[in-house]
Amino acid sequence: MACNALTVDVEEWFHVCGVPALGPPRWVELESRVELTTRLLLDLVDRAGARATFFVVGWVAERVPRLVEDIVSAGHQIGSHGYLHERAYDLGPERFREDVRRSVAALTTPAGRPRCFRAPEWSINDRSLWALDALAAEGFAIDASMAPVRIVGSVDYPRTPHVRATASGPVLEVPPLVADRFGQVMPLGWGWGLRMSSPRTVLAAIERAKQAGTPAVLTVHPWEIDPDPPRVSLPPRLRFAHYFRLDGFADRLSAIVRGAAFDRLDSVVASLPPPCSSPV
Ligand SMILES: [Zn+2]
Repeated sequence: MACNALTVDVEEWFHVCGVPALGPPRWVELESRVELTTRLLLDLVDRAGARATFFVVGWVAERVPRLVEDIVSAGHQIGSHGYLHERAYDLGPERFREDVRRSVAALTTPAGRPRCFRAPEWSINDRSLWALDALAAEGFAIDASMAPVRIVGSVDYPRTPHVRATASGPVLEVPPLVADRFGQVMPLGWGWGLRMSSPRTVLAAIERAKQAGTPAVLTVHPWEIDPDPPRVSLPPRLRFAHYFRLDGFADRLSAIVRGAAFDRLDSVVASLPPPCSSPV
């Protein structure tokens, strides 16, 4: 039986898309918290006996290479979260491909190169489907960037792993967990939706997915469990996405990760029936 996938987007607290005041030129001036918070998350995952896929920003990997080495040696999988954490549709086809290549160079270790990708802010959607072709051309087998919710994706996207054909070959798309609430589709498996939900609610949804034969895919960020999170002024939507109900999230996340079986994406995908099991 397929188990669930735990995924982590390894980025700094200031890697917020679309805020010019937090653009790359400022990054070296801001306090780095990514190593501390990723190690807290590694502990949380390891204590639960789980494994996960860590989508790492290439810029972070270059600045803290020991972090990538330690993630790999703890038995987890490395994926790419882009090099400069920019949205695919903002980059356009050529710069996207350049950014992906740079991330692969930064994230390749003696254990191998990344084969899974997650675009910052779920930014592969109807505006940027060309990105899937670029990923296949650059040797990626799995993408986890298309969210079946309205604001960043589309409620029409499938909620289960599915193969997407591109001119450069197939890519397995693995969507994150969503739930239907009050006539809307909400992000139950990540962000504010995950932080506002009780472990019991999330575990019940994971159980329902299991009954339907589908792995639930959860996504967290190291900055969400920062014991002393830095804050900056953000527009309202981003403020909500980044700061809503951080209090106590580490404990709730720990209860969720202990309450169900979680593995890295490549292992989860390998246990799916064909054709979803084939790309890895
Ligand atoms: Zn991100």
